[in-house]
Amino acid sequence: MFTMFMVVFMVYVNTKSMLLKAGQEQYVVGAFNIVNHTSMVSVVEAAAEEKSPAIIQTSTKTVAAMGYKVLVDLAKDLAAETDVPIALNLDHGTDIQVIESCIQHGWSSVMVDGSSLPYDQNVEMTAKVVRMAHRKGVTVEGELGHIGGTEEDIQVGQEDVVLTDPQKAIDFYQKTKVDSLAVAIGTAHGLYKGEPKLDYHRLAAIVNKAKIPIVIHGCSGLSNEVLAKIRACGAAKMNISTEIKHKYIDACDIYIRQHPQEYEPVKKIAFVKEEVKQLVKAYIKIFGSANKA
Ligand SMILES: [Zn+2]
Repeated sequence: MFTMFMVVFMVYVNTKSMLLKAGQEQYVVGAFNIVNHTSMVSVVEAAAEEKSPAIIQTSTKTVAAMGYKVLVDLAKDLAAETDVPIALNLDHGTDIQVIESCIQHGWSSVMVDGSSLPYDQNVEMTAKVVRMAHRKGVTVEGELGHIGGTEEDIQVGQEDVVLTDPQKAIDFYQKTKVDSLAVAIGTAHGLYKGEPKLDYHRLAAIVNKAKIPIVIHGCSGLSNEVLAKIRACGAAKMNISTEIKHKYIDACDIYIRQHPQEYEPVKKIAFVKEEVKQLVKAYIKIFGSANKA
C-alpha cells in the first residue's frame, strides 16, 4: 500500500537510459554547460519546470575554477530536490587525470575527447576510460571525427575539420564500448558566421549504423529549423555552451545598467539565474524533451 503514495525521485543518474529513451522516442536531451552555482541552478530548475531530463555539463576550466567536490555536491543536492533525471557530464576531457578525478569524485558521466589523436590512439584512450568509468557505473561519451571551432583551449581550424565516417563509427563503438558518440557533421564550437552547411545524410547514416546515442556539439546559434532537422535525423543529445555564456554575461550587464546604484548581489544573481533558466527552457521545448522525464 505504501508504494502507491511514494513519490519517485529520479535524482542523480548517468546518461545511459535517458539518452537511449531519447533516441527511441525521437527527442533530444539538452546538455547545458554551466559556469558556476547560479547557472547550475538555472539548468536544474528549467528541467524541473519543464518535466524534462537534463545534463549539467562542466568544462575542464569550470572544474579547475570550482573544484571537483563542490561541483558534484551541488549537482547531487540540486538533483535530489527534483523529480526529473539529472546527469553531470565532463565535457571534452582530454586529460586522463582530470577524467579519472571526475569519475572518482562522482560525475555520473564523462566525455573523453581523443579526436585530435590518430584513430588507433583515440580508440585506445577511449577504451581505457570506458573500462575505468564502467566499473563505477559512469557513462562515457567519445568523439570520432573532428569538430571545428574553439572550445576552451581546443582550437580546430576549418582545414582540420574531419567529418565522421559512419562505417568507422561502428568500428569505434565495437572497439571501445563507448555509451554515446559525438560526431562531426559540420557544426562548430563558438559562434557561427552565417548558416553552417550540415551533412544530414551523414548524421542519419551514423545514427542508423552506430546503434548508440549520437551527440551533436556546437548547437548554440543554430536556427530552430536546423535544430529540428538534427533532431529528425535521430541525434539523442545536443550541447549548448556558447549561448549560455553570452546570456550569463549579458544578463549581468543588463542588470547593472538598470540598477546602477544598487549593491545587493543576491538580487542580481536572481535576475541572472532567471534569464539563463528561460534560455534553457526554450531549448528544452525545441528539443522535445519537455514532459519526457
Ligand atoms: Zn563540444
